[in-house]
Amino acid sequence: MNSLHGRSVIVTGGSRGIGKGIARQFLARGAGVLITGRDEAALSAAAKDLASSGGDVATMLADVADRAACAAVAAAAVDRFGGIDVLCANAGVFPAQRLADMTPSDLAHVFDTNVYGMIWSVQACLDALTASGRGRIVLTCSITGPITGFPGWSHYGASKSAQLGFLRTAAIELAPRGITVNAVMPGNIATEGLADLGTDYLRQMEQSVPLGRLGSVDEIGHACVFLASDQAAYITGQSLVVDGGQVLPESLSALHAMPDNRE
Ligand code: NAP
Repeated sequence: MNSLHGRSVIVTGGSRGIGKGIARQFLARGAGVLITGRDEAALSAAAKDLASSGGDVATMLADVADRAACAAVAAAAVDRFGGIDVLCANAGVFPAQRLADMTPSDLAHVFDTNVYGMIWSVQACLDALTASGRGRIVLTCSITGPITGFPGWSHYGASKSAQLGFLRTAAIELAPRGITVNAVMPGNIATEGLADLGTDYLRQMEQSVPLGRLGSVDEIGHACVFLASDQAAYITGQSLVVDGGQVLPESLSALHAMPDNRE
C-alpha cells in the first residue's frame, strides 16, 4: 500500500489498543498520523512508542463526545499535515451493564462516545476530506451488535449497529465528494480494554475462535490500511469482519467437532 506515503491520517482513540495498532500501520507506510484520546500521559507514551514506526506522529487531547473538540482535532491535523486524507473513527467504550440495571447515564456514556463521537468526528473532517480528493473514512465497528450478542453489552451492541446504519447513508451522501466510508468489524482483539474484562473472559473468547487465538491490533490496522488505500478506491459502504472466524460456527458443537490437525 505505497499509496499511503505522505497521507494525513487521524485516528481517534489512538493512545492504546486497536487505535494504536491502526496508527502504527499507517505510520509504517509513511503517513502523518494524529492520534487522539482523553489521557495526556497515555497519548505521550503512545507517541513515544510509535515514533520508531516511521512517518510522523502527533497527539491531541480530545474527547470525541465533545463536538467542538472534534472540530479542533480536524483543524490541528490540517495545520500539522496540510489536510486530511483519512479519518479512522475508532474511539469507543464497552462497559458491561445488564439491561435490567441500565441507567440513563450508562446508555449516554456508550452512545456519546460510540455514536455521537463517531458522527462528530466524521462531520468535523468533511471539508478537509473533500479537499483531499481521495478522502477515506474507516469506522471501527464490531461483530457485537451487527452479528453477535453477549449478555451485558446490549447498549454497546446497539451502538455498534447504529454505526453500520450511519455508514450506509454516509457512504451515499459523501460519494459525490469522492469520500469512501467503510468499517472494520473486529472480533475479540487483544487490547488493554479487552484485558480489563478479565482472564476468564479472554480464555473463553480464545476457545470460541476457529483460528484458536485472539486477534492483534495490527491485524485490524492492516484492514484499515487496505480500506484507506488507492487499491480500495471503488469500495464504499462496506464492512469487513476481522475475527478469526468467530462468527462462523453454527453452534458450540460445530466448534467442538473441528478437526485437530495440529501435531
Ligand atoms: P481500548 O483499549 O479501551 O482503547 C480505547 C481507545 O479509545 C483509547 O485510546 C481511549 O483513550 C479512547 N477513547 C475512549 N473514549 C474516548 C473518548 N470519549 N474520546 C476520545 N478517545 C476515547 O479499546 P479497544 O479494544 O482498542 O477498542 C477500540 C475500538 O474497537 C472501539 O470502538 C471498540 O468498540 C472496538 N472494538 C474492540 C474490540 C476488542 O476486542 N478489543 C472488538 C470489537 C470492536 P482514553 O480512554 O484515554 O480517552
